[in-house]
Amino acid sequence: MFTLRTLPYDLEALEPHMSAQTLEFHYGKHHRAYVDNLNKLIEGTGMAEMSLEEIIKLSAKQEDKKAIFNNAAQVYNHNIFWDCLRPTNTKMEVPSSLMTLIERDFGSLENMLSEFKSAALTQFGSGWAWLVKEGDKLKIMKTANADTAFLYGVTPILALDVWEHSYYLDYQNRRADFISAIFDNLLNWDFAAKNAGL
Ligand code: MN
Repeated sequence: MFTLRTLPYDLEALEPHMSAQTLEFHYGKHHRAYVDNLNKLIEGTGMAEMSLEEIIKLSAKQEDKKAIFNNAAQVYNHNIFWDCLRPTNTKMEVPSSLMTLIERDFGSLENMLSEFKSAALTQFGSGWAWLVKEGDKLKIMKTANADTAFLYGVTPILALDVWEHSYYLDYQNRRADFISAIFDNLLNWDFAAKNAGL
């Protein structure tokens, strides 16, 4: 049985950039539903004993396991996403070790964020934008719906949820404003550096 992970901050901690109401629905309803649905779908099957990553890898290859894949991958993606955000009142610089890699692979932090934003904006419909590490190199990618970066042989560094449920209550159709608010105020660079092995 999988359990809904706890949030690393209070529901109000990301305001005004992400409201408590959004977190109440996004974490409390959507993320919880993915966990509950996954548990129901794997109950009594061989997958009940597997890790989340194993379930995702196995179900990704089987058309009749689509529902299991969608819920398992969404649990995995959201588990990462909450840690990618930090409370509004926290000051945080990009650690110099991570900045060195960003400047090496993108030229500058601005370039990286611009590419990240473009991926998040051009993801048609629901999905995710990612900063990932492929081998030793940082790169930006995007995935549709529940699809998850780690299936492509890369290590997720930062995940950004661009499903409408992620921003509609606060920003309605203005996905670009949501992305800017996250980038300017909420990214957890310490978590990113840790994921990058730094
Ligand atoms: Mn979501």
